[in-house]
Amino acid sequence: MLEIDGSIGEGGGQVLRSALTLSILTGTPMLIKEIRARRSTPGLMPQHLKAVDAAAAVSRAHVEGAFKGSTSLKFEPGQLRSGRYRFDIGTAGSTSLVLQTIFLPLSKASSASSVIITGGTHVPWAPSFHFLAWHWLEWMKKLGYNAEISLDQAGYYPQGGGRISATIRPRDGQVPLQSVNRGQLLRIRGLSAVSNLNIDIAERQKRRAIQRLHPHFDNVRIKIEQLPSRFKGTMLFLLAEFQSDDTQNGYTQCCYYSLGKLGKPAEAVADEAVDALLDFLNTDAAIDQYLADQLLLPLAFATSQSAIRTSQITPHLLTNAEVIRQFLSAKIEIDSDIGKPGLIRVIPNPSS
Ligand code: AMP
Repeated sequence: MLEIDGSIGEGGGQVLRSALTLSILTGTPMLIKEIRARRSTPGLMPQHLKAVDAAAAVSRAHVEGAFKGSTSLKFEPGQLRSGRYRFDIGTAGSTSLVLQTIFLPLSKASSASSVIITGGTHVPWAPSFHFLAWHWLEWMKKLGYNAEISLDQAGYYPQGGGRISATIRPRDGQVPLQSVNRGQLLRIRGLSAVSNLNIDIAERQKRRAIQRLHPHFDNVRIKIEQLPSRFKGTMLFLLAEFQSDDTQNGYTQCCYYSLGKLGKPAEAVADEAVDALLDFLNTDAAIDQYLADQLLLPLAFATSQSAIRTSQITPHLLTNAEVIRQFLSAKIEIDSDIGKPGLIRVIPNPSS
C-alpha cells in the first residue's frame, strides 16, 4: 500500500483529489495521512468526502476513514465501471473539483458515463463552470479526451444548489502538448452574467471590462446572460485567444474570471478579471497558471513528452507534480520558482 503524506507542498484538497485519481488509474491501493494538514479546518470536509465517494463509486473501491474531519484515509480501488452517477455535495463545495477527480478514470472506461453533480458551480478557490467548459475541457479534447458538460443551474457561495451534467466517453488517445510560445492575440471573448439580479449589473461589468481592455486591444466581445439559479450571483469571464506558429494546432488560449459578492461593486468584479488577464499578457506565457496545474496529470499519462510555458509557477503546480511523482516514474521538470513564469516539461516514461 502506497503511503501518501497529505501535508506535502500546498497541503490542501488537491493532494487528496490527485492521489484518488492516480490511485484508480494505476490500480494502486493507498493510505493517505495528514489530510489537508495545512488548512485552518484540517481533514475531510463535505466536498472532499464527495470526491472520495465519487472516486470510490467509479472504481468500486474499498474505503476506510471517510468521515467529516478525518485526517487519514485508506483507499483500495477495484474494478473501474462506467455508468450513470449522481453526487450531491450538499454544500457550496465545488462541483468542478469532484468532476475533475473522476474525469480521467471514467475516460479510461470502455463505455460512456453520465454524471450529475450538485453543489457550487461558481465558487471561490476552484475552477468555475465556465472555466471548465470554455477552457479546461477544450484543452482536454486536444489531449484526446471526449466529453461534454452543461450547466443546469448555477450555484454560488455560500448556498450552493447548482447542478452540472457531464457525458464522459472513452478517450480517443493520450496526446502530448507543446504550448510554449504564445503568439499574436486574436480576440477576447467574454461573458458577463447575473442570477436573480438586475441585468444592469452585468451591463456595468461588461462596460468597465471593455473600457479597461480597449486601450490595449479592441477586438473584445462580451455577451450578457441571466443564468438560472435558486440564489443570487454575478460573474465576469474573459477568454483570450492567440494564434501561434509553434504552439500545437497553431492556437492557445487563457481564461480569467471573477465572481461577485454582496457589497462588491460591478466595476470591482470587472477590474479583478481584467487585471488578471493583463498580468498574463505581460508575461510571455502560453498557458495560464490555473490550467497549468490542471493539465499536469493528463500530461503525465500522454504517449510522449510535453512542454508548456505558464505565466506563474504556483504551489498547486508543485504539489501536483510531487503527488504524481509518488505514483508514476514520470519526470516533471520545472525551470523556475513560485510566482514567476516558467517552462514545464513532462516526460511520462523517462526510461523508454
Ligand atoms: P485546492 O485549493 O487544493 O482545493 O485546489 C484548487 C484547484 O482549483 C486548483 O486546481 C486550482 O488551479 C483551481 N483554481 C483555483 N482558483 C481558480 C481560478 N480562478 N480559475 C481556475 N481554476 C482555479
